[in-house]
Amino acid sequence: MQTCNRCIYNSTIPKISFNSDGVCNYCEQYDSMNSQYPTGLEGKKIIEDYVTQMKKDGVGKPYDVVIGVSGGCDSSYMLHLAKNVYGLRVLAAHFDNTYNSKIAVENIKTVLDKLNIDLYTYVVENKEFEKIQKSLLLASVPEFEAATDLSLATTHYMACAKYGIKHIWEGHSFRTEGVSPPGWFYMDAKYIKSIHSKFGDGIIKSTPLLWLRKWIKWMVVDKIKKFRPLYYLDYNKEAVKKFLIKEYNWQWYGGHHMENRTSYFINNYYLPVKFNIDLRWCEYSALVRSGLMNRDEALQKIKEPKPFEFELLEEIKTRLNLSDSDWEKIMIAPNKHYTDYPTYKKTFERLRPFFFILLKSGYVTRSFYDKFCVMKDSKTS
Ligand SMILES: [Zn+2]
Repeated sequence: MQTCNRCIYNSTIPKISFNSDGVCNYCEQYDSMNSQYPTGLEGKKIIEDYVTQMKKDGVGKPYDVVIGVSGGCDSSYMLHLAKNVYGLRVLAAHFDNTYNSKIAVENIKTVLDKLNIDLYTYVVENKEFEKIQKSLLLASVPEFEAATDLSLATTHYMACAKYGIKHIWEGHSFRTEGVSPPGWFYMDAKYIKSIHSKFGDGIIKSTPLLWLRKWIKWMVVDKIKKFRPLYYLDYNKEAVKKFLIKEYNWQWYGGHHMENRTSYFINNYYLPVKFNIDLRWCEYSALVRSGLMNRDEALQKIKEPKPFEFELLEEIKTRLNLSDSDWEKIMIAPNKHYTDYPTYKKTFERLRPFFFILLKSGYVTRSFYDKFCVMKDSKTS
């Protein structure tokens, strides 16, 4: 067992390797991203130039940009940034998987009201969505959140398409949350559909998954681009939280990904217990690399048990109509991997030159291109 000399990743992380200084390949990847996405004055200039273009693209349209909101820290801050700092006309978009925490709902309302931003919401048809979630559990794969995540992404495109908007801002920050190692998670519409056909009734009518043809149309015909402004900022989450609390009466919900209750269930119970995946490795390593957390502190904190409210598990079992013994069967079933089910992965690999052009033109993100088009199908280690 080897641990990286710089972050806290060790030999258990998929596809890890160490250089002669004992530093891992993920730290090297971080350094390369760090120079590719500069902060400070250089980063500010990149955002300003991008905003100028966005305003041109927004002429004649009611909005310049769609920003997905969850009530979390990153998305709330992006609303402030877009509207109050850069003067953009923002349309917020929200996908409601019906598991929002009370605090998240209040945060969304408070921040949008104060900034006077309109909201586009897509509420999924409960019963159908719950059946899909149940299928994902029965398939024994770690991507329980895939239907939510794909629906989120699709909702942003739907909001853009409705008003002719050309830009989506995403709140990801590799400096504070990291990039999950390849092999941990995979998702696409075909993956969900094939699992739901095998383990459920296969009916997907109201759940807006990112179907390939539609997605390509939104990029190639409607020319909807994605931008991650936090990549170009010296983004200190702790300082931002304090700012949001003071300026917007925003409330802290107690942990990364905890604004939504299925995220909380997945990150604090299902992934660590069944799959031995703890996203804190990713988050803490990122914070250590970017100097926002001390390495010794991270090594200590990772040993702390994750809090979990078992009433939430009971609620999920009730909503998904799972008995105690059904649940036990799910937890002891052999773990499966996305390669065990039909997906678009081979299609993405085949279309790599096409997606390379989309990457260069700002339609897809670097992490999508690397994980879906470049990395070959393989099991985790
Ligand atoms: Zn490292």
